[in-house]
This record gives sequence, C-alpha cells and structure tokens, in this order.
Amino acid sequence: MSNAKKIALITGANKGIGFEIARQLGEQGIAVLIGARDQARGEEAAEKLRADGLDARFVQLDVTDQRTIDAAVSAIEKGYGKLDVLVNNAAISLPEARTAPSTLPIDALRKIYDTNVFGVFAVTQAMLPLLRKSDAGRIVNMSSHVGILSVLADPNSQMPSYVKAILAYNSSKTAVNAITVAFANELRETSIKVNAVSPGYVATDLNGHSGWLTPEQGAKVPVKYATLPADGPTGGFFDENGVVAW
Ligand code: NAP
Repeated sequence: MSNAKKIALITGANKGIGFEIARQLGEQGIAVLIGARDQARGEEAAEKLRADGLDARFVQLDVTDQRTIDAAVSAIEKGYGKLDVLVNNAAISLPEARTAPSTLPIDALRKIYDTNVFGVFAVTQAMLPLLRKSDAGRIVNMSSHVGILSVLADPNSQMPSYVKAILAYNSSKTAVNAITVAFANELRETSIKVNAVSPGYVATDLNGHSGWLTPEQGAKVPVKYATLPADGPTGGFFDENGVVAW
C-alpha cells in the first residue's frame, strides 16, 4: 500500500459530530476508520459513507476496553502500517451526573472519566507507534468551552451557573486539555501535532439536540486541526474563532 494515502481514525464516529468528521475527512480523499463500540452501528455508518463514494471502514473500538483498543492497533497495523490522523471524539454525559459536586454520585464521575479522560489517554498512547510512522501525524482531542477553568472560576462570566456547577463532564474536558498539552510537549520535536478543539454547541444526542449548530458545522474545527499543515500549531486549544483560553 502506498504511504501517500492518509488514514484517519475517529473514535465514536457512528453518529453525531464524529460521523461528520469522518465524512469531511473522507471527502478530502482520506481513508476513514469509523471507530465504534457497537458493530452494527459502526458498520451502518461506514456503509453510509461508502454509499457516498468515500473510503470508509468500521473498526471496533470501545475506548474503555483496552482489548478492543489493542485489537484496533493490530488491525490498523496490518491493513495500513501507519496512522496519520487520530480524532479522540468519543465521549459521554450522564443524566445523573448533570448535577453539582455535592450531589454527584461518584460512580457517575468514574464512568464519565473512564470514557472521556482515560479513553482519550489509552487510545492516544496505543495509537502513538502508528502515528509515529506517519509523515505528519495529527491528534485532535474533542474538548469543550465547559472545560475552561478561567471561565468556570469567573463569577461574572456569561456561562450559566447551572452549567458551571456540572463537575463531571466539565472537568473531564479540562483533563482532556491537560492530556493534550502533555502529549504535545512530549512530541514537540516530532512531526506529530496534538491539539484540543471545541466544536461549538452542536445539536446531538449528547445534549438532547439542544445545540444550535448542526453536526456538519461542528465538524469543521476538528477537521481543520486534523489536517493542519507542517507549520501549524501544537499543544493548543482552538474553536471556530481561533485560540481559546485554558
Ligand atoms: P454523541 O452524538 O452522543 O456521540 C458520541 C459518540 O461517542 C457516539 O458515537 C458514541 O457511541 C460514542 N461513544 C460513547 N462512549 C464510547 C465508548 N466507550 N467507546 C467508543 N465510542 C463511544 O455526541 P457528540 O455531541 O457528537 O460529541 C462528540 C464529541 O464532541 C464529544 O467528545 C463531546 O464531548 C464533544 N463536544 C460536543 C459538544 C456538543 O455541543 N454536542 C460540545 C463540545 C464538545 P454510541 O452510539 O455507541 O453511544
């Protein structure tokens, strides 16, 4: 297989923003691997993109299950020998965790961290050897404005106080930002760039479709940072308007 064709893995790509990221990367001629924990949902999503003429394949990947992560590494190694783009997109928010710290069940906090934080770390660490084989590896971590400590700590910020109170999901995204900086620092002397992005407030299952952007619009920022040129940034946090405060 030619090393020229780019390969991208998107976790949680069977629906929502992840599916649209896969579509938009596929439209740029990149072979997209639809990471999904459920085989039927993943196959169906890949089939939809193939029906539109894109090079899309399902890869089973539950970001909380190291065995599926290791199996995905082996499958990508065997099929392509490298990985050019990793988008850590999979995340959850639980109804019982949309509450202030004093009433947050610790099990809900653990579950959210398992997917949103440890999942990002585990997939990134496991995929790094394949990303190192790319000429220009790109890692994009899906973060959010609700993870910005400077906004959460400001009593006068525009963010509603009930949103600021949500410890579990918000702090999972703060941790994603920290993971982004840590990997970017370790990889600074390589051609791999690692950035966090906020897609904006997007109507998906995650928020009961309350967002004002479409998944197609929300995919634009992650796709931009997944396809950065060689002189692009690393270790940053970005939204549609550019640099975001930590
Ligand atoms: P979504 O529609 O709920 O999609 C989430 C995806 O993650 C689904 O494909 C889901 O798969 C998958 N997933 C969940 N747990 C997984 C696991 N253990 N292993 C593998 N896949 C798993 O949510 P979304 O709004 O598109 O969110 C995508 C990303 O954007 C998330 O990181 C989210 O935090 C971030 N984000 C979203 C917004 C927004 O306004 N929507 C704003 C800021 C940031 P299943 O179908 O199997 O559940």
